[in-house]
Amino acid sequence: MQSQHPGPPVSKLVREMEESATLKMASMARELREKGMDIIDLSLGEPDFDTPHHIKEAAKTALDDGYTKYTPVNGLPELRKAIVNKLKREYNLDYTMNEIVVSNGAKQSVYNLCRALLDDGDEVILPAPYWVSYYGIVKLAGATPIEVPSSIDNDFKCSPEAIEACITPRTKFILYSSPCNPSGSVLSLEELEALAAMLKKHPHVYVISDEIYQHINFTNDHHTMAAVEGMKDRTVIINGMAKGYAMTGWRLGFTAGPEWIAKACTKIQGQVTSGASSFGQKAAAVALDADHGPTHDMVKAFKSRRDLIIRLLEEIPLLRVNRPQGAFYIFPDVSGYFGKTSGSGYEVKDADDLSLYLLSEAHVSTVSGVAFGDPNCIRISYATSDAKLTEAAQRIAAALASLK
Ligand code: PMP
Ligand code: GLU
Repeated sequence: MQSQHPGPPVSKLVREMEESATLKMASMARELREKGMDIIDLSLGEPDFDTPHHIKEAAKTALDDGYTKYTPVNGLPELRKAIVNKLKREYNLDYTMNEIVVSNGAKQSVYNLCRALLDDGDEVILPAPYWVSYYGIVKLAGATPIEVPSSIDNDFKCSPEAIEACITPRTKFILYSSPCNPSGSVLSLEELEALAAMLKKHPHVYVISDEIYQHINFTNDHHTMAAVEGMKDRTVIINGMAKGYAMTGWRLGFTAGPEWIAKACTKIQGQVTSGASSFGQKAAAVALDADHGPTHDMVKAFKSRRDLIIRLLEEIPLLRVNRPQGAFYIFPDVSGYFGKTSGSGYEVKDADDLSLYLLSEAHVSTVSGVAFGDPNCIRISYATSDAKLTEAAQRIAAALASLK
């Protein structure tokens, strides 16, 4: 039978799926740079630091010790034990090793959970702005993402009332990150408790708490929904090695949550990836148990860069910036520039246009807020040097000044 659509015979799923906006902008930046353009890439959320020495050494030792084979699908026992110990140490929560699933990055953890919990027609509440891939993965699982808007005026946080208004009998879970990618906002204990109080009225709704930026928190006050009274059995924590330990390329993430959910995720993972890399897991166990000095040094650098980028962006007349409390992103409201036109006749209608304009005019890559569920903003990753941030801000200021 002839295909009914133009183009290669890929699946309907792929045809209808959005490409990851963060990875797309990063690859556009890379291509332009390869063509010789001097691009400053502020699109990808990736620490510019190398993995700390002791973690790399642990992986090398693991290879020499023969850790070159498949591990149990849900992860090496010693890594799961290190995760259990971490959760006890940091949150005073008791998990068993059967409640932990190690995967190939927190992104796969999101995928596992969506596949494990969602049926066609289920709904997932995404307080906006949310991390791009939540939307794509929820759709991929056949469920419907329900966005709850916020704005810079309330520090990009949604009230429990606004979230409650979106709960229906089909709601399966709420999925958010704190510290948040892209806004950098951090949910306080009081805010989590208020959300939990509202959720008590809706016992069918679970919480997926993505804490991948746990350590990159300038308030030094990280809290998890799992530790709020009555919530542990309804919460799954997602975390991973990528951000706090500068291990993006190692592809290691994990979940901690009720055993029936861990079992379901393990079943999915057993068919999809068989689990994470053996020697990487050995190194991750060392990283979690070891002194966190290198992490604290990175966080210090991120904090000073955060202060620098705020100062620089605040000088740009029509940009509105908040004060991110964690992660390494700033999410300025750029709507003051909508409707303006460049000298060459390019009209900036929305954040997508603005982000593309900055790439072509200022040679600075950012990501439009549209993909994060906030069409008034763009995301700037400040995980780069002071010199690059200063140069990028100057270029952005000049390009925006020429919009009339
Ligand atoms: N969650 C959030 C909020 C993220 O920003 C990212 C991006 N790294 C991930 C999950 C995925 O992390 P990983 O690299 O471990 O897959
Ligand atoms: N999470 C990072 C980001 O938001 C890395 C890219 C990705 O995994 O999508 O930029």
